[in-house]
Amino acid sequence: MVFLLFGPPGAGKGTQAEKLARHYGFAQISTGDMFRKIAKNPETATEKDIKATMDAGELVGDEQTIQLVKDKLNTLPAGQGALLDGFPRTNPQAEALDAFLHTNGQAITAIFALDVAEDALVERKAGRLFAPESQRVYHKKYNPPQVPGVCDTSGEELIQRADDRPEITRNRLKVYNEQTKPLLNYYGERITHIDANCGVDEVFALLKQHIDTLQ
Ligand code: ADP
Ligand code: AMP
Repeated sequence: MVFLLFGPPGAGKGTQAEKLARHYGFAQISTGDMFRKIAKNPETATEKDIKATMDAGELVGDEQTIQLVKDKLNTLPAGQGALLDGFPRTNPQAEALDAFLHTNGQAITAIFALDVAEDALVERKAGRLFAPESQRVYHKKYNPPQVPGVCDTSGEELIQRADDRPEITRNRLKVYNEQTKPLLNYYGERITHIDANCGVDEVFALLKQHIDTLQ
């Protein structure tokens, strides 16, 4: 099974992907997390490029992104369910994914679009806290860690992501509207819309309801 979590930046894709992966045993494939790992201590020109692109709120190139996902999918054991979070984000990425799955006799099982009002997105991003090592995501108000400023699992200090600064959030929403939103047309009726203007546990329950009917 291959599931996609689709939505604007700050919608809660990573948060739900982590919960779903834990609940169902899916492999979580988050291109944002993968790129953050690559760009963590940038040394090569490619790594520095990726970091600069991410910090500016722009998208990493299609070719590089598609290769990263294909390589990851190729390492999954047969029968392992996959949950893609933050990929695809452009038409060429969506076409490449369909072609890759088709070649392997597979297809996307379901695409969940997390629909969230724009002012809530801005608030979710502004309060997001991130643990660079464990890659866990929190929110100052809506999903706080047990001890303020500290990751529950790794004990490391939580930081604010560079791309959560208000001016970068504005650019990320623009990039989403221009390059990613058109995928709603590409996928059309293959999409299941989830009203994600509610709490983390409620969104999770809605997603679970859909996935349980497919298993
Ligand atoms: P995305 O991966 O789509 O960019 P995240 O999962 O990182 O989004 O969530 C963005 C921020 O919003 C995080 O701080 C997260 O804790 C918080 N968040 C996620 N889902 C919800 C929700 N349903 N209600 C309120 N805050 C949420
Ligand atoms: P995310 O963690 O999903 O918010 O992604 C953080 C950043 O990683 C994005 O702003 C992009 O710079 C990069 N990124 C993540 N996924 C993709 C993708 N599918 N295509 C291009 N860039 C991506």
